[in-house]
Amino acid sequence: TEPVLSVRDLHTHFRVEGGIAKAVEGVSFDLFPGEVLGIVGESGSGKSVASLSIMRLVPDPPGLIAKGEILLRGRDLLKIPYEKMRKVRGGEIGMIFQEPMTALNPVFTIGMQLTEAVRVHEKVSRAEARDRAIEAMRQVGIPDPAERLKDYPHQFSGGMRQRVMIAMALICNPSILIADEPTTALDVTIQAQILELMLAMKEKKAGSSIILITHDLAVVAETCDRVVVMYGGKIQEVGTVHQIFEEPKHPYTRGLLASLPTASTERKSRLSTIPGNVPSIMNPAPGCRFSNRCPEAIDRCSVEEPVLHQLPGERFSRCHLVEEEALGQVDKEKADV
Ligand code: SF4
Ligand code: MG
Repeated sequence: TEPVLSVRDLHTHFRVEGGIAKAVEGVSFDLFPGEVLGIVGESGSGKSVASLSIMRLVPDPPGLIAKGEILLRGRDLLKIPYEKMRKVRGGEIGMIFQEPMTALNPVFTIGMQLTEAVRVHEKVSRAEARDRAIEAMRQVGIPDPAERLKDYPHQFSGGMRQRVMIAMALICNPSILIADEPTTALDVTIQAQILELMLAMKEKKAGSSIILITHDLAVVAETCDRVVVMYGGKIQEVGTVHQIFEEPKHPYTRGLLASLPTASTERKSRLSTIPGNVPSIMNPAPGCRFSNRCPEAIDRCSVEEPVLHQLPGERFSRCHLVEEEALGQVDKEKADV
């Protein structure tokens, strides 16, 4: 199958006092039709910047996509005019963010924002757009949708606002939905409802795909088909959900899994049990980005940066141990994941 979206060698930088922060460095991955791809990492791993780069929403300045390609069905989104990109957003690619208030305009009613979202992308009458808005709100489970069109964002509860944002993201039937921590601010029951809703919406349009960005491996286990693990602006491991959970090939992934609560412990909201801090993206140390926190580090780790090794079964791991273990096997750096 051809990927619907291919990110190729993406480099996104921020010009900050004293230099350049390389938030995303050489990230490549594919998104296939019908799949839910999780991008996992702690805050500062580059996962959100990668998703903002796909949408060309990195604030410039100080941000800058220094290099790379974002291929949507073969068309490079980094090369199309800005006006065309506006149509891609909310059209072919829908977005959901952690905090709906940043995506919803507080001074317009939900009805105005939903109908406008339709009319930016499709030639429909106001009445038709209004019908679509009501239908979208009904689909995401907002009671009395026709009445609630008149309300402003602050008149909705947190969970309902997240539903409004999903309605907005899906009203034009995008083939890709990018959701960045869509449930983080919500309580556990609403979280589960929102994830179920996203998956149900995906099933409605055959071949549509989701990129789910999260720090929460429990969410990944429940929703994703494949996982990209990021750390220090780089991809560290790629595999299916089963591979990642059953046979992690990177010490960072193993650390994330170890920090997952078991049935008997309380669910943690942050992956905070790996000691140490995320590396400086301003002045990354030589060697592996994870070496100052890695419990399995060997001598070469602090001097030599590992490449992203390809393993059997479309798996990838950026770790020297993989190479040491597989001595005799041919290693190669492969950009396309
Ligand atoms: Fe740990 Fe070394 Fe692997 Fe980095 S390369 S994850 S420091 S073992
Ligand atoms: Mg983030």
